[in-house]
Amino acid sequence: MLDTVHSSIIQAGKKLGLTDDAINELIKIDKEHLFKINLGNDKAFNAYRVQHSNKLGPYKGGIRFHPEVDLDEVRALATLMSFKAAAVGLPLGGAKGGISADPKDLNKAELEELSRKYARELQPHIGPDKDVPAPDVNTNPEIIDWMVDEYRKLTGDITKASFTGKSVGNGGSLGRDAATGRGGMLAFAQLLKHTGQADKQLTYAIQGFGNVGSFFSVLAAKQQPKWKLVAASDSQAAVYSSTGLNAAVLDSYKRKRGRFSDFKKRGVQVITNNELLALDVDVLVLAALGDALNKSNVVNIKAKYIVELANGPTSEAAFDYLTKKGTVILPDIVANAGGVIVSYLEMLQNKAGEHWPEEKVNNELERYMVKAADALYKTTSEKNVSLKEAAFINAIKNLTK
Ligand code: NAD
Repeated sequence: MLDTVHSSIIQAGKKLGLTDDAINELIKIDKEHLFKINLGNDKAFNAYRVQHSNKLGPYKGGIRFHPEVDLDEVRALATLMSFKAAAVGLPLGGAKGGISADPKDLNKAELEELSRKYARELQPHIGPDKDVPAPDVNTNPEIIDWMVDEYRKLTGDITKASFTGKSVGNGGSLGRDAATGRGGMLAFAQLLKHTGQADKQLTYAIQGFGNVGSFFSVLAAKQQPKWKLVAASDSQAAVYSSTGLNAAVLDSYKRKRGRFSDFKKRGVQVITNNELLALDVDVLVLAALGDALNKSNVVNIKAKYIVELANGPTSEAAFDYLTKKGTVILPDIVANAGGVIVSYLEMLQNKAGEHWPEEKVNNELERYMVKAADALYKTTSEKNVSLKEAAFINAIKNLTK
């Protein structure tokens, strides 16, 4: 993924006529913090925080707990964060953190100890005006609340602006849980407006009906009645119905820990994840994991639009293949920016000692997303480049102002 991110930056930098030195400056990582966290009982994990750039504001980015977390992945995600914040006009920098642990192998006391030790080790390098971490894959408000408490104990900071993604009762923002899915839906709707497709009936399939994917579908069912959800997957299987699926029903099924492989309803078929990707739909929404579309499966893709809600879900080879074919790809750094936008709104609320109503948060989110999608479309049209190149060009313009 790191190579893909770097080549996106190089390509966009060249389009803007930047020198090699200027491009290298954009790629360069400011600081890397690598350490081990030991929980005893032979449980020791590699921990990371990569701070890519604070040119536009304090470093900002999630913390991932996953056995496959490694330094290159954290570097790629930290770099993407800087470009994401810049592409949507936020005064924030980019960072990412991770621990190579699987929370499923830890009991609750161990998970708390791991989280607190991570915050303790990083405390000198983070803070409301320095670096503000957030949740990511396998981390949640409870974990962030432990980290905030550890940070407070060490520094006396009571603003709670040291982390975002806190629980709502502990300074978290309303609307944060839905923000990434909502933002993706708003950005895609805005793109359709620009291309004159807003009134068209569309079918879509969604890979990864988790937090982001489910909010995208549930909100789309309310606000975009012309978009018909025909397939959705979890990590094991997908459900499909040519006449349409009810997003709210799927959402409540998944919240009760149901598996799509066991889903039973008349007219709904269980299919594989590969079959979902190859469906003849108008739109494929990717909300699961990085490199989901790659050399091995890209030839099967029939969708006309791809919405990248996961980070880096289309490999470079897949992107080149699809772009040549005319597939329109709404790129991750704009499509999934809703989460970091509401994180920024959470920081503002914490610093001002305020707690905004959900409607205000959603309105602000919409304002940022619509503006970013408009800017994206303008650059695509003016420079005759893909939306992804346009997103990186817009980001670089902000980063080199
Ligand atoms: P999640 O864990 O809630 O959901 C992920 C979903 O993908 C689950 O339904 C899971 O079963 C499914 N999945 C996992 N492996 C799969 C596979 N091989 N094939 C098909 N489905 C698979 O995570 P989330 O918070 O919804 O995040 C989804 C993606 O969006 C991640 O890549 C994350 O980095 C990215 N993202 C999330 C946010 C956010 O605010 N949560 C913000 C920006 C980007």
